[in-house]
Amino acid sequence: MKLPKEELLEIFRQTKALLEGHFELTSGLHSPQYFQCAKVLQFPKYLHLFAGEIAKHFEYSEIELVISPAIGGIVVGTEVGRMLGARTIFAERENGKMALRRDFEMKKGERVLVVEDVVTTGGSVEDVIGLVKDHGARLAGVGYIVDRSNGSVKFEAKTLSILQMDVVTYKKEECPLCKAGSKAVKPGSRALQ
Ligand code: ZN
Repeated sequence: MKLPKEELLEIFRQTKALLEGHFELTSGLHSPQYFQCAKVLQFPKYLHLFAGEIAKHFEYSEIELVISPAIGGIVVGTEVGRMLGARTIFAERENGKMALRRDFEMKKGERVLVVEDVVTTGGSVEDVIGLVKDHGARLAGVGYIVDRSNGSVKFEAKTLSILQMDVVTYKKEECPLCKAGSKAVKPGSRALQ
C-alpha cells in the first residue's frame, strides 16, 4: 500500500511537522514552508505507519542490520529494525566525520539497511554508505520518510522514500512574500509556539 501524498501532507500539517507561512531558514533563505520531521514522529501511530512502509518494502531483503545517521534517523531506524527483527545501530559524527562509536559493530558481509528521516542533500546517508563499504558489509537498501532533494539525490541501492516534498526557497531580496509585505519568522522561535 502506498500512502497518498495528500493524506501524508495532512498528517504533517496536523502534527505541525509542516508549517505554512513565511519562514527564514537557518541557511538565511526564505520559504513558504518549514518542515521538522521529529514533530510527527513523536506520535507512535505515525512512527509506526512510516516505519511500517519502510519495513514492508525491505521485508524480503534479508536485512541483518539497520543503521541510521544520528540524530534524525535514530527514531525511525529503531522502529524499522524492531519490525524487521534486525539489530539496529546508529552512526554519528566525530570531528565532522561519520563514524561508529559506542563499540557498535558492522560485520563483514552483513546485509545493511540505511534508514533516515529526511534526505535533502543526501550527504549523511552517503557518509553512512561509506561506512558500510569500509566495514566490508553489504548495502541492501536505503529507506527514508521524506525526500526533499527535488529529485537530485539517488543512492546506489534499492531505495524507498515515502513522500517526495519539493522545497521552495527564495533569496531574501527576491522573496515574493517579503515583497507582499509580510515578515519572515525563524522556525523554533517563540512566535511559532
Ligand atoms: Zn521573505
